[in-house]
Amino acid sequence: MDNMDWSNIGFGYRKTNGNVRCYYKDGAWGEVEVSTDEYINIHMAATCLHYGQSAFEGLKAFRGKDGKVRVFRLEANAERLRNSCDGILMPHISTELFREMVTKVVEHNIDFVPPYESGASLYIRPLLIGTSAQVGVNPSKEYLFVMFVTPVGPYFKKGFAVNDFVIYRHCDRAAPLGTGRYKVGGNYAAGMKASCQAHSEGYACEIYLDAKEKKYIDECGAANFIGIKGNSYVTPKSTSILPSITNNSLMRLAADMGMTVEQRQIPEEELSTFDEAGACGTAAVVSPIGRIDDVEKGVSYVISKDGKPGPVLTELYTKLRAIQYGDIADPYGWVTVIE
Ligand SMILES: *Cc1c(COP(=O)(O)O)cnc(C)c1O
Repeated sequence: MDNMDWSNIGFGYRKTNGNVRCYYKDGAWGEVEVSTDEYINIHMAATCLHYGQSAFEGLKAFRGKDGKVRVFRLEANAERLRNSCDGILMPHISTELFREMVTKVVEHNIDFVPPYESGASLYIRPLLIGTSAQVGVNPSKEYLFVMFVTPVGPYFKKGFAVNDFVIYRHCDRAAPLGTGRYKVGGNYAAGMKASCQAHSEGYACEIYLDAKEKKYIDECGAANFIGIKGNSYVTPKSTSILPSITNNSLMRLAADMGMTVEQRQIPEEELSTFDEAGACGTAAVVSPIGRIDDVEKGVSYVISKDGKPGPVLTELYTKLRAIQYGDIADPYGWVTVIE
């Protein structure tokens, strides 16, 4: 792997040494298997294909200055996956099984964890799907839990920078009591059209309002929204957003920096009062927002007056990255070192 240009690998799929798999049959999970096959062989009537019984996770492993590899918050990802399982009636994965598979897939692909200096990392993608044939709408009896990894480049190639976002009123990603709070494939299909429209109109990402009243900020594409106002960290409270583990971590860091953390409804008009705003998630940690356009309403909110990320989000971003790469101590027990 010595000849890899780690800083320029982007965010695509790359073949690695292998993936790990576990099959659920007759009411129980089997043994973990390592596979070099990039394909899965499933029945054409599998429930994941027709009825969306498909949930996934996304987490990362980072190589530190000390050469050690650290996985960020795998227990929280395991717990969130169980929540998704409850949402679409799939069997639970225990934290122990999740940990065993993360450890195995990272160890097996340790050469693919990019070097510290590159700013790149190893993305881990666990996927749980219903695999048995079912023509009537019923949960599958059999499941496949597969985990693969792929190295991903630094999100901010030219450094931490602001981007413009757009509010779309003509599209909802999730219903108030629907599946938005679960990390399931169907939510991504629901948002794909709006996301492509945003990109084609020159925006980094689309923002959804709450589907019922169209008054409050809900989610940014596949990332949670954060607003900074004075000493407050404000993030939406909603039944249709996916609880981001990055957001949860940043809330903790903000509270420990002495900030007030507010999880509450954010009316769209309040955007004009934020000193800083950003979208957060595993891919970017924080993506600072320059301007938000509500094209259908004909309003623009300029968040960053100088076109640069603000000091609070920059500090939060820097701290979280430092914990992930092992540059500073992790007082929260968030990282698992893979020996
Ligand atoms: C995965 C995801 C996020 C970000 O969650 P992290 O745990 O921070 O990566 C936010 N919103 C949606 C819809 C997601 O699927």
